[in-house]
Amino acid sequence: MIIAMQEGCSKAQVGQVISELREFGLQARVIWPSPKAVLGVVDEMSLGRFEEVCDAVRDLPGVEEVYDFTTSWKLVSKGFRSQPTEIRLGECVVGSDEVVIMAGPCAVESRQAYLELARELTPLGVGLLRGGAFKPRTSPYSFRGLGEDGLKIMAEAREVTGLPIVTEVLVPTKVEMVARYADVLQIGTRNMQNFALLEAVGDVDKPVLLKRGMMASIKELLLSAEYILARGNWQVMLCERGIRTFETETRNTLDLSAVPLLKQYTHLPVVVDPSHAAGKRELVPALAAAAVAAGADAVMVEVHQRPEEAISDGRQSLTLEGFRDMMDRVRRVGAALGRPIREAA
Ligand code: PEP
Ligand code: MN
Repeated sequence: MIIAMQEGCSKAQVGQVISELREFGLQARVIWPSPKAVLGVVDEMSLGRFEEVCDAVRDLPGVEEVYDFTTSWKLVSKGFRSQPTEIRLGECVVGSDEVVIMAGPCAVESRQAYLELARELTPLGVGLLRGGAFKPRTSPYSFRGLGEDGLKIMAEAREVTGLPIVTEVLVPTKVEMVARYADVLQIGTRNMQNFALLEAVGDVDKPVLLKRGMMASIKELLLSAEYILARGNWQVMLCERGIRTFETETRNTLDLSAVPLLKQYTHLPVVVDPSHAAGKRELVPALAAAAVAAGADAVMVEVHQRPEEAISDGRQSLTLEGFRDMMDRVRRVGAALGRPIREAA
């Protein structure tokens, strides 16, 4: 249930609505404080109960309108906010007409290699640098990242290139620390339903890149995003990165239908990661172009200057030459659709 207050309503009027809802055992959240305050009640309730609460609230002073939602996701839905959510990252805006390219290695492996790659990528049309410092690995014996040292290297790359950085955070206790370095917090596929982590990133004022669980439905992805918005953080990007199917020729199956579907359901921007979907670098440029054609707001890819030496995900990492080829294709598709790729200033 969403309660829209009239423009210029007083704090006391908002307080009265909140305490009336509390009488019903409902906890209202202030979604927007002013000038037109909006309150949200996310508890599930029966239709009878909904009508009862509506009757009690609708005529209170300062209340403009009370809305119901038929979907189980609410704050993320188009019904709640018809305008697309735009997320400003440095010079670019994800969720606008332009398409943003996010690129970098799977993991930050060393200072020298990361800075070298960041410098190479900057003039090629990259809007955001990626890199993993805390790596979720299937095997506990695999390289699990440089930790905070990796974040320092990424922060240095931001200084050098002027590009914002995105990196994954794995546990709620590290959110504050990672947020001190990163411009965007990434929630990986394995953590899409780690609700404590979702709430922790919901409590900070940093954009979040939420990756779809490899076995999660689109509805589950939206409900995970809902956890973050419900805590007050509206800067969420949804990322399709491939799901598990019976097909073994690719690492995962890129579910491109998720792009137009998400665009239909939500105001949040949609990102596509063809690298983790394909698992093979030679497929990445075609899938990236297809993602732009399907309406993605951003594309995130893994790049490595020497993929054969990469400590993780080398097989799917584009070489710099492969990246240039990909950029050429996405530029042409973007131009045809009136969605230019954000280029370096
Ligand atoms: C990543 O982007 O670094 C990553 C680990 O991806 P995913 O969570 O989609 O596997
Ligand atoms: Mn990777």
